[in-house]
Amino acid sequence: MTVEIICVGTELLLGSIVNTNAAYLAEQCAGLGLSCYYQSVVGDNRERLAELIKTAAARSDILLISGGLGPTQDDLTKETVAEAFGLSLTEDENTRRRIAQYFEKRGMELTDNNWKQAQVPEGCLVLDNENGTAPGMIVKSGERHIVLMPGPPGELCPMFESKVRPYLEKLEPGVILSQTVKIYGVSESLVETKIEDLLAGQKNPTIAPYARLGEVHLRVTAKAADEKEAKKLIKPVVRELKARFGGDVYSTDADTTLEKSVVDLLLAANLTVTTAESCTGGMLASRLINVAGISEIYKSGYVTYSNKAKRHMLGVKKTTLTKYGAVSEKVAGEMAKGAALFTKSDVAVAVTGIAGPDGGTKEKPVGLVYISCQVCGKLTVKEYRFSGERRKIRESATACALMQLRRCLLEYCGTKTFGKDKG
Ligand code: ATP
Repeated sequence: MTVEIICVGTELLLGSIVNTNAAYLAEQCAGLGLSCYYQSVVGDNRERLAELIKTAAARSDILLISGGLGPTQDDLTKETVAEAFGLSLTEDENTRRRIAQYFEKRGMELTDNNWKQAQVPEGCLVLDNENGTAPGMIVKSGERHIVLMPGPPGELCPMFESKVRPYLEKLEPGVILSQTVKIYGVSESLVETKIEDLLAGQKNPTIAPYARLGEVHLRVTAKAADEKEAKKLIKPVVRELKARFGGDVYSTDADTTLEKSVVDLLLAANLTVTTAESCTGGMLASRLINVAGISEIYKSGYVTYSNKAKRHMLGVKKTTLTKYGAVSEKVAGEMAKGAALFTKSDVAVAVTGIAGPDGGTKEKPVGLVYISCQVCGKLTVKEYRFSGERRKIRESATACALMQLRRCLLEYCGTKTFGKDKG
């Protein structure tokens, strides 16, 4: 079946907001094995929206429409859809009740136009909105399925996940199953080159690459009569991908993030950890602390931005700072050593770099970052050169610190026995 994504909103056309719904929906469709050939953005204009719906319905089986379901005059998606398919609007009692409860619970005043959101095209399937007032709707017209969802991502994504996805999954017989192979530290182009042959002839399962910050995810999706059969199709492909990328694969589980894979290693080896950050300013600590269960092993997080802080809080030597500069291999090393020593941690990770836009020189340009990891006395310091604006450099450095730490931990774990006896 083919899908077409339509995002409604003049704000999108003006560039005032980024169309994250389109990216989200496209990714979800790919995961479901549905072919998406067109994506469009249209303003809050009845004629143009009607024309687009007509065109889309003539060439695609499923229309996923986001936005324009609000209570105001310029929200006209469902009115236009109803008109395009010759349907009238009727009030959905359940939605009316939900809207009343929504406002009452929050002590908010209801205005007359809020009731507009209880109007739905006759005969449609109403999708309750757990996070807002505008319900979603699925209109069936002949062989076409027209899915209407609210614009705010905080409403659209959970609605898609809990209601639209199960609906789409049932449209074609059999099951669609996915498994994601997560790779870090390898560029997207290199990943694709390494699996060119697999990508070329793929039919079932399919392999879809997605680039993430410092990571590439390969989603393997199979269609089969039942779950057992789908798993059987996926298994050899995942095995082959793991063989090709070896230690660069950090997980084959959709819910495991890079930081979780690091924390899992620390917990398994019973190692305590401390972070010392300069240019990343706490981002590394924040990503690690996002992982539930870290409290057992996380000791401290230093943000030592100034030279003074590096000296006083981490014991970095004044002479090292003067001789090599704050952004140097030596200072990164002393930061990790000091952090481990002062907190009596088994592991310490330190980051120092130039995030820009100012502060770069010919010898030390913006984007130069040193990351050090000390694991049970063994220190590893590496130099990196990142590009992009300030935030991107800081995010790349954070992701890289996690990758480097993971590699050091794997190396350590390869030479030691897991458990309480750390050696
Ligand atoms: P509401 O009931 O909140 O009015 P709605 O369905 O009418 O919902 P819109 O009015 O079109 O949705 O958009 C509301 C907000 O949702 C926008 O201001 C924007 O913040 C967000 N939004 C809308 N469309 C998109 C999109 N395609 N991508 C990301 N965010 C979006």
